[in-house]
Amino acid sequence: DPRLEAISRAIRVVPHFPKPGIMFQDITTLLLDHKAFKDTVEIFVDRYRDMDISVVAGVEARGFMFGPSIALAIGAKFVPLRKPRKLPGEVFSEEYVLEYGTDCLQMHVGAVQAGERAIVIDDLVATGGTLSAAIKLLERAGAEVVECGCVIGLPEVKGQRRLDGKPLYILVEPR
Ligand code: IMP
Repeated sequence: DPRLEAISRAIRVVPHFPKPGIMFQDITTLLLDHKAFKDTVEIFVDRYRDMDISVVAGVEARGFMFGPSIALAIGAKFVPLRKPRKLPGEVFSEEYVLEYGTDCLQMHVGAVQAGERAIVIDDLVATGGTLSAAIKLLERAGAEVVECGCVIGLPEVKGQRRLDGKPLYILVEPR
């Protein structure tokens, strides 16, 4: 797909952010490039529009930048998966392990009904820990997670293309 080259080029790489040794993939520059941003959303929309998806779940914070556009275009609801203590209603919580310590994602109880078909959207997958927590949240509500979709997939981490048995769809790898 010739659009992927331009999408990849629109993502800025910031060395040593947020700490020394990390090559940070910055998608805010992709959002500044109207064509590349639109193409990114359209690639996901073309993939998911005929898959009978009723739930697009986005991971805070950068999954919120792509998920709602995809949801509107395919006729699905958007469900935010948030960091702890942000959602006011009753929540499901899933902790997951980070390189140092743990983090947690939460989803409102009642946002998703049993039997709904869902996709999870985030900007980047590294170890897959975040997406695994997202999958568990949706499954606790009885939803079927059809696939996880990310703009960038780091190649050096395991679990690529498959996550807890779920397909993983990635547009580009870091340059
Ligand atoms: P994982 O849980 O190890 O797969 O890490 C993925 C999560 O970390 C996603 O929510 C990403 O937004 C975030 N993340 C890790 N590295 C980067 C980066 O270089 N750029 C943007 N987000 C990152």
